[in-house]
Amino acid sequence: MDQEGHTTETASPRPQLNYLHDVLEDLKAQHLYFRLKVLEGEQKPVANFDGKEVINLSSNNYLGFTTHKALRRAAMEATKRFGVGSGAVRTIAGTMKMHMELEEQIARFKGTEACVVFQSGFAANAGTVSAILGKEDLIISDELNHASIIDGCRLSKAAIKVFRHKDVGDCERILKETESWPGKKLLITDGVFSMEGDIAPLPQLSDLAEKYNCIMMVDDAHSSGVLGRNGRGTVDHLGCHGRVDIQVGTLSKAVGSLGGYVCGSRDLIEFLYHRGRPFLFSTSHPPSVVATCQAAFTLLDSAEGEGLIRKLWSNTKFFKRGLKRLGFKTGESQTPITPIMVGDAAKCSEFSRRLYDAGLFGVAIGYPTVAQGKARVRTIVTATHKRADLEKALEILGRIGREMQIIS
Ligand SMILES: *Cc1c(COP(=O)(O)O)cnc(C)c1O
Repeated sequence: MDQEGHTTETASPRPQLNYLHDVLEDLKAQHLYFRLKVLEGEQKPVANFDGKEVINLSSNNYLGFTTHKALRRAAMEATKRFGVGSGAVRTIAGTMKMHMELEEQIARFKGTEACVVFQSGFAANAGTVSAILGKEDLIISDELNHASIIDGCRLSKAAIKVFRHKDVGDCERILKETESWPGKKLLITDGVFSMEGDIAPLPQLSDLAEKYNCIMMVDDAHSSGVLGRNGRGTVDHLGCHGRVDIQVGTLSKAVGSLGGYVCGSRDLIEFLYHRGRPFLFSTSHPPSVVATCQAAFTLLDSAEGEGLIRKLWSNTKFFKRGLKRLGFKTGESQTPITPIMVGDAAKCSEFSRRLYDAGLFGVAIGYPTVAQGKARVRTIVTATHKRADLEKALEILGRIGREMQIIS
């Protein structure tokens, strides 16, 4: 090191963060420690992670959009014409014409007055919930709602009451108990639950929102591009048009790129321009991302998009049937997300590791993403998996599952 503290060598860490090492050792002891799997090449249905080719049941790339020709072309064209970055936050100089056009396109797609795009689905949820509510307000939230909703609720400083997963009766019990609440009330749910793959009882929750005068909000991260006409999401799928005040979606899963969006009334969107903190204080998407998303929504609304969604669902049915036949417990999933329940975290990570060695990548999910004792291997099939990929996946799952006595 020279006198000014410049060096080309890695600095050895100061002791102030040593406690983190102890936490990591603890995770190892609980079989909750993981290494990042590194994707070499493209995000595809059969992909190379850490130098090994595996059937990939771990991505959210439902429709294969991450590598779609038309989307790739759109990204490259936009980079050529408009550069690689937007150079500012939306509220200063970082709103490009294409940002506005994408938002108009999404609002049309969802059948709402307006839309605002955030940097991620996480930012959309956290930024919206924390902006529209304050400490005098109340949030009624499904116990399995996504972390970004939970963080948004906490940031808002509103009171939070959690109802049992998908339990409309329990939700109403809370609403009855809080009927005279003086502040605003928000009833919030995931549309599709990311670790279970089941669908929210949106019509019944919307009834409750009407009866008890709540703002109704749904996070459709896993339903955009998957459920409803051309992938319009759970509101469309369950016929709740006009009954949900705030629809959040992601551009990072089926849409294939990056970002999150909020759809609703013009007032809601303009309010978020002024108060949505990630919108105000974090730089907007680069042209390549915006153009990719524009092309993705055009594709969703085409015959090709429709065909891909059909293929996604026929693959889903085939794979679920296969898992049932093998005797796996797969919970209450109703979507392409199928958890394979194991229970014990150590056994689950061992199961995932052995599947991987046999050529199948299904990620082990444990605490804190799911409750203690509910560890599972989560699988997601896509439209681009070939039947042969899924047959081989089922063969591997059956073999390792029997060896480990997860099935008999
Ligand atoms: C993935 C996910 C998000 C976050 O979306 P990103 O665009 O990846 O930040 C939000 N909500 C749910 C339910 C999700 O599954």
